[in-house]
Amino acid sequence: MFKAFLLKYAEIGLKGNNRYLFENALRDRVREALAPLGEFVVSKEQGRIFIECPEVYDYEESVSALKKVFGIWSICPVVVIESSEWDSLTKGVGDYVEAMYPERHFTFKVEAKRADKNYPRTSPEICIEMGAYLLKRFPEMKVDVHNPSVRITVEVRTKSYVYSIVIPGLGGMPVGTNGKAMLLLSGGIDSPVAGYMISKRGVSMAATYFHAPPYTSDRAKQKVVDLADKISKYTGKLNLYVVNFTDIQLYIYEQCPHEELTIIMRRYMMKIAEKLAEKENCLGLVTGESIGQVASQTMHSLAATNEVCTLPVYRPLIALDKQEIVEIAQRIDTFEISIQPFEDCCTIFVAKHPVTKPNLKTIRHSEMKLQDKIDELVETALNTVEIIPIG
Ligand code: ATP
Ligand code: MG
Repeated sequence: MFKAFLLKYAEIGLKGNNRYLFENALRDRVREALAPLGEFVVSKEQGRIFIECPEVYDYEESVSALKKVFGIWSICPVVVIESSEWDSLTKGVGDYVEAMYPERHFTFKVEAKRADKNYPRTSPEICIEMGAYLLKRFPEMKVDVHNPSVRITVEVRTKSYVYSIVIPGLGGMPVGTNGKAMLLLSGGIDSPVAGYMISKRGVSMAATYFHAPPYTSDRAKQKVVDLADKISKYTGKLNLYVVNFTDIQLYIYEQCPHEELTIIMRRYMMKIAEKLAEKENCLGLVTGESIGQVASQTMHSLAATNEVCTLPVYRPLIALDKQEIVEIAQRIDTFEISIQPFEDCCTIFVAKHPVTKPNLKTIRHSEMKLQDKIDELVETALNTVEIIPIG
């Protein structure tokens, strides 16, 4: 029965003079999300986004797509009443109630908003008089202004909108309003969640994956492509950079103490990701690290990894427990992919007893042993990177 949606946004309403940028971005993200589902017409309308649906469309699919768009506070399927003249309005709202609720033994409250301050009734008057109209037409309904089971909202504009279903949106800010970041995306549980979380604040994404063929398989790489594809439902299109890390890993393995391998490897991952970030105009790096989760994520290890970067490194999971991360992964539907059992490049050469408190001086000293070839290897890795467009 719904041929239109009204979308409400919260935070972007606070952006003063830049407000239109946020509204335009949200409108564009909504258009992109709905484009594969039909010819929806999406427009901005006085503090709302208004969507006209095509004649035939899938309601569930459309709502589910909208629930993945950052910046939406709530999604209201609405019925449009073509004229706001009082008799049409009351009739329209009454018809809505009749169609929506065949069983009308419930308590209700009318809420009204009017965009046009010259409308002959004030909002409280609309509520009272509309309530009276509905009571008369449907005597089985009862008013409860404090705790109604149905809230019937009427927004009066040139046309009017009536709705009583309010579906919570994702919140956050529209992607594209806050620059871009480079996500270090592995096949694990954490990094896709990290990308999702940063993107929630309006940041668009690029991603880098380090693989080590033949030690890691094409299936392991495909898993990362699948994860990137999942998060792109939220972040929008992104480029996935696949870096061949094998020679660098082998070289570190040959030259450096094995217990320092993971840390040194991580430092090179960060350096390479930073180079790719520059190429993509990214303003920061994003990782799925969380304090203490594994040896390479103690405060000491994080300090050692962080040292090589000049771009800020965003770690949105830093204070989350694994279970909290898993819950988000399940919600955004990456968990099942992440737990597929494919080898990760970091686990292959991993030492039995990695350092948990790396000393920066020692690490730097060990890295001196890489002097001969490392720059050339990094250069080759950068020159042979594969770019996979996602989404
Ligand atoms: P994840 O679940 O994201 O793999 P994790 O708990 O396995 O994380 P680590 O393997 O220690 O943790 O990796 C820490 C972070 O380093 C990851 O969240 C990711 O951002 C980055 N990272 C690790 N391995 C890779 C890789 N092969 N390619 C790209 N980034 C990686
Ligand atoms: Mg991992």
